[in-house]
Amino acid sequence: METPRRMDWSWYRDRMFSFCPRSYMLHYEGGRGGFDLYAERERRLVYRLKKLSDVPRWLDELATDAVRGCVPWRGRQFRHELFRQFENGRSRALAGDWIDDPAFLNLSELYYQECDPEALFAGAYEELRRRAKLLENSPLKNLFADLNELTLVKTEYPLMMDVNAVRVWTAPVQVWHSGNTLFFLNWMKSAEGMSCAGALQCVWAMRHLKIPPDRVYFAAYGFTDGAYREYPAKELDISPALAWIEQRALEFATSDYPSRTENCPHCRFREYCRD
Ligand code: SF4
Repeated sequence: METPRRMDWSWYRDRMFSFCPRSYMLHYEGGRGGFDLYAERERRLVYRLKKLSDVPRWLDELATDAVRGCVPWRGRQFRHELFRQFENGRSRALAGDWIDDPAFLNLSELYYQECDPEALFAGAYEELRRRAKLLENSPLKNLFADLNELTLVKTEYPLMMDVNAVRVWTAPVQVWHSGNTLFFLNWMKSAEGMSCAGALQCVWAMRHLKIPPDRVYFAAYGFTDGAYREYPAKELDISPALAWIEQRALEFATSDYPSRTENCPHCRFREYCRD
């Protein structure tokens, strides 16, 4: 008898499946074991492509790591760490460290030679400066005033748990106590994405910290325009969001993974698919 596929869900998986079900399959199954130098060529190629990032995603990750590393909050330390990690990623990507080990940063724009490498990193640097300035002048500064070793919730990211038969992941930027309230910070997503993240984070708060949703608050911040929103968990419809996640996970597990070829020009797997 065939073993049923495990059901998994994260917002990242969801967007990848919507982009192209085949890319979902390649990302989560096709490159398995491809880190091994002795794996077959195709598997190693899929693994290399799966590890590709792009400038916007890389900059989001740099900001996430710098916020998580800056406890208690100090603006200068945040900025220093942000630009230090940028320089580290830039020099490793340009040196081609990813050729021997795809775990090192490689960017899709660089790999597919979409633009001049120096121009790419100069543009990325300017964008990082813009984001740092925007964040430093945002309401997050006041929120971060509560952030110290005593208020911080120490945990591994992403948060992982089971919702019935589905293994789920959610990755808030930071989690901390503020008085009687538990705060989750997330980068701004679509309304659907924020509702799913909120529902899962409420479940996690209840299971791991025994904190009910009426004591949970969220802050969402967007780097595009500095949009900021703060809201209580009681505004969320938790049960419908969890039911939707379960239904999507079932869809992922039972799909035949058709191609959405209109997205090929922007896809990290295009080298593999055109072979
Ligand atoms: S290259 Fe096209 S078909 Fe292949 S995974 Fe990407 S979007 Fe799908």
